[in-house]
Amino acid sequence: MPADEHAQRRIQGQQGGPAQQALPGLRAPDELAPRLGALLGRGALLLGRVPSRAHGRTMTRPALRRLVLVLGDQLDAASAAFDGFDAATDAVWMAEVADESTHVWSGQPRIALFLAAMRHFAHGLRELGLPLHYTSLDDPDAPPTLAAALGRDIARLAPDELVLVRPGDWRVLQALQAVASEHAVPLTLLEDRHFFSTPARFEAHARGRKQLRMEYFYREMRREHGVLMAADGVSPEGGQWNFDADNREAFGRDGPQGLPAPPAFEPDAITREVIALVRQRFADHPGRLDTFAWPVTREHALRALRCFVDERLPQFGRWQDALWPQQPWLWHSLLSAALNLKLLDPREVVAATEAAWREGRVPLAAAEGFIRQVLGWREYVRGIYWTRMPGYAALNALEAHEDLPAWYWTGATHMACLRDAIGQTLQHGYAHHIQRLMVTGLFALMYGVHPQQVHAWYLAMYVDAVEWVELPNTLGMSQYADGGLMASKPYVATGKYIQRMSPHCKGCRYDPAQRTGETACPFTTLYWDFLMKHETALAGNPRMALQVKNLVRLDDTQKKAILARAAAVRSGEVA
Ligand SMILES: Cc1cc2nc3c(=O)[nH]c(=O)nc-3n(C[C@H](O)[C@H](O)[C@H](O)COP(=O)(O)OP(=O)(O)OC[C@H]3O[C@@H](n4cnc5c(N)ncnc54)[C@H](O)[C@@H]3O)c2cc1C
Ligand code: SF4
Repeated sequence: MPADEHAQRRIQGQQGGPAQQALPGLRAPDELAPRLGALLGRGALLLGRVPSRAHGRTMTRPALRRLVLVLGDQLDAASAAFDGFDAATDAVWMAEVADESTHVWSGQPRIALFLAAMRHFAHGLRELGLPLHYTSLDDPDAPPTLAAALGRDIARLAPDELVLVRPGDWRVLQALQAVASEHAVPLTLLEDRHFFSTPARFEAHARGRKQLRMEYFYREMRREHGVLMAADGVSPEGGQWNFDADNREAFGRDGPQGLPAPPAFEPDAITREVIALVRQRFADHPGRLDTFAWPVTREHALRALRCFVDERLPQFGRWQDALWPQQPWLWHSLLSAALNLKLLDPREVVAATEAAWREGRVPLAAAEGFIRQVLGWREYVRGIYWTRMPGYAALNALEAHEDLPAWYWTGATHMACLRDAIGQTLQHGYAHHIQRLMVTGLFALMYGVHPQQVHAWYLAMYVDAVEWVELPNTLGMSQYADGGLMASKPYVATGKYIQRMSPHCKGCRYDPAQRTGETACPFTTLYWDFLMKHETALAGNPRMALQVKNLVRLDDTQKKAILARAAAVRSGEVA
């Protein structure tokens, strides 16, 4: 989208009404949540500086019963953490710490999104008069890690109990539990009711199955939650569970037509302050902030949802796999970041989508295709993460050991498809699914990059990256490092796949039809190299058998030439 069009779409007004009326909050577990939700959705209250020190009132309070820990991806007023919250005896704890931006070398858009959303949430809490202990990165004595910040505050505040909703990262859970036990303070860990499912529910699904497949889990979720179900309550609407066959076209010669511009949210004073901080403090981190326009409040998130349902959902699915140069958004929802920060509840996203279909505003294939991502994939990968960690993170089934090429951090490559995907990742902290899976992920897989390095890159670069969702997608779906738990086969393809789905190859110095020679497309070379290297292992996989069989067409000379060209790609001679 041209920059000026993008700017025109920036939402200036902050009045809360319409989005909330159209999508009334579905969450009201206790008395505090609706009050908090209403406040956090009202923009006028969100425009001040976040005080960086404990609320004065709390300093005079005699004793602290519960310290409620709210992490950067738990910005949910209806969270179980607030159940029974009593402002007279309890307090909220939030902390900005450098380590969360440096343990993987996070991109500037990702850092800015988390900090801006945290500060808006904190401001809402303070406006409500909730006692809040907030550590800001601006504090000269801000501890470097979450564990250090919590340890300091336990010593200072002496709470009777810590309350935490299951975090999005196994590492963080371990660290916080360790601090609690070091200080002998009980930590109550609550399940995260943001999700439709729980790790225990996923475990029950997985028990006794030889093979896990998302499709079966998705059908159970549909039945259990009554989503897109026919009147009999047991059959799917439209007589099918999955309308994928109607989806996934490539664009014609003229490219995407009538593409609606997505909403962009003008940074307010709080966000501008965060942007300045990130530019100064994380100057050597990748990415840019000049077009930062992500939703950072619940009110923004609701507007983003409404806009998607009204304008882009009708075409969602149809173009889900297509790529077009300089078009980062296409008909995707761009809701992952708001969902993962918990500014949006997946129930309201699914309900709004189903309602749009029932009202005849979107085709069933589009609604089902989108719901499958949220109710199916999103819940499924979380189940994999929590039931397989910590061992999952160390898997490397294909024994890949190459370093990630340095140009992944800069986009400086002659490969047009990769340059485009990485360029927009640096600009926006976003790339859509097919770019992640079939451009950046595909290349890393066939190149043989160590899965830990691929994981660190995805976790660092995307605004929606939290480990519970990023890791299974990267390690399992994209890199096949779990040996087939997530995906039934490695997603490998030649450059011709990218040529079919996009016009990138026309503007590229390489030729997707060539596997060897000066102009050979590195994807095509590495595809054949990958099949040769893993021939024995892959031959036993029925879904790969046909691809592996094609190796018989290569004679020794051709094989040698492929190996030589693949070596040139890995040495950086071809990039
Ligand atoms: C290598 C790799 C890494 C990924 N890392 C992340 C990540 O860190 N965070 C993240 O949220 N998604 C990740 N995904 C999944 C997916 O690419 C993104 O959710 C999606 O591109 C986000 O853009 P969107 O909101 O426009 O999604 P849409 O295309 O509009 O999809 C709608 C929603 O469905 C959910 N969804 C779709 N696909 C998946 C999936 N495979 N797993 C989980 N949820 C899904 C997301 O919440 C998304 O917002 C990754 C995929 C790959 C292949
Ligand atoms: S020729 Fe190869 S590297 Fe170039 S755009 Fe096509 S697939 Fe990408």
